[in-house]
Amino acid sequence: MSPNQCEVAVIGGGLAGCSAAISLARAGADVALFEAAALPRHRVCGEFLSPESRATLERLGVTAQIAEAGARDVSLARFWCGAQSADFPLGEARGLSISRHALDAILWDAAQRGGARAHLEARVRGLKNDGGAFVFEANGHLWRAKKVIWTVGRAGAPKSAPAENRPRFFGLKAHFAGARASENVVEMHLFRGGYCGLVRVEGEAANVALLVDYPTLQKRAPDAFLAHLLSKNPTLAARFEGARRLIPWETTANVSFERFRPAGGNDMARGVLCAGDAAGYIHPLTGDGMAMALRAGELAAAVARAHKLSPREAARLYQAAWEREFAPRLRLAARLHPFALRPELARPLLPLVRRFPALGRAMVRGTRGT
Ligand SMILES: Cc1cc2nc3c(=O)[nH]c(=O)nc-3n(C[C@H](O)[C@H](O)[C@H](O)COP(=O)(O)OP(=O)(O)OC[C@H]3O[C@@H](n4cnc5c(N)ncnc54)[C@H](O)[C@@H]3O)c2cc1C
Repeated sequence: MSPNQCEVAVIGGGLAGCSAAISLARAGADVALFEAAALPRHRVCGEFLSPESRATLERLGVTAQIAEAGARDVSLARFWCGAQSADFPLGEARGLSISRHALDAILWDAAQRGGARAHLEARVRGLKNDGGAFVFEANGHLWRAKKVIWTVGRAGAPKSAPAENRPRFFGLKAHFAGARASENVVEMHLFRGGYCGLVRVEGEAANVALLVDYPTLQKRAPDAFLAHLLSKNPTLAARFEGARRLIPWETTANVSFERFRPAGGNDMARGVLCAGDAAGYIHPLTGDGMAMALRAGELAAAVARAHKLSPREAARLYQAAWEREFAPRLRLAARLHPFALRPELARPLLPLVRRFPALGRAMVRGTRGT
């Protein structure tokens, strides 16, 4: 059986994948997009998009759909350590909050309407470089692509180094009705071993996302862990008075903050352009992972369109562009990471940020590469 052909295969239909597929399709490329899951669906995510994502969403042509879906403006990030807080203004551009249930479906739809051959519930397996082109299998069909953009998220990323000794985290997310989440504010409540993020999304829903290390979680089920957390944190408990969970908890295991090589580096991935979490994972406390994924998808698409470049040349060019754009903020986020886990380190910073707002603005800019 002769394989299906495409110029560029985008593997993974999350934010980075859809961004790449939309950009390629709009430029007239023959692009096939593969997503393992069915859509729409809830994802573990804080559902806060940092301000610089607006420019990418604009270029992708989806801002009207996002507004129609009920996205909200977010002007401020408020960090809490127990009852103490400090505000980090997000600047004129403002961030956005919208559920992944809505956002991922809007992007998928845009990729499909833009002309990408979009395959849902199509898990890609057996990707390999076969004499200058890539071959793989999806839903029992063989495919052959000149270039591959690999956007399968954190779980499927090619690891740069064994990571057994790095701290691992558990991610949880649910929507609640009646939670007292402030309007236009994304709240981050730090506790020993993790944080809880809270932001209003569409309609009456507030998104609640937690990242917690395993010693702190102690194998508790999500509701039991939240009840435990609220019993220790009256400020956070006040947000949940009278609140009702609207959807089942979504969870994700083994989150870690190692860095991946952005353009592949092992045999399987040589010449593959990795984008989004598959390329590099920033601490979610920065609220920048989605913006980075959307932007990296665009970057990878621009390089993949260059017909004259071999996959390896394209990978080298892309890697340099990726490093230039994202490495500084990944480095800063890694330095801030210990503060996120230990409120006793973060607490003395809060009065400083209150007193010198320029410090807060500099931290916001630094973790966003602006
Ligand atoms: C607790 C938590 C809170 C967070 N909060 C925020 C926040 O508030 N703001 C923010 O900006 N970021 C946040 N993030 C990070 C953000 O969710 C990610 O950075 C973002 O989703 C990355 O997008 P992506 O496209 O790289 O990957 P994903 O969105 O994970 O998409 C990858 C896709 O690939 C598909 N896939 C996997 N394997 C295959 C395969 N073999 N074949 C086909 N398809 C495949 C998957 O089904 C998935 O749909 C948070 C993360 C966590 C864990």
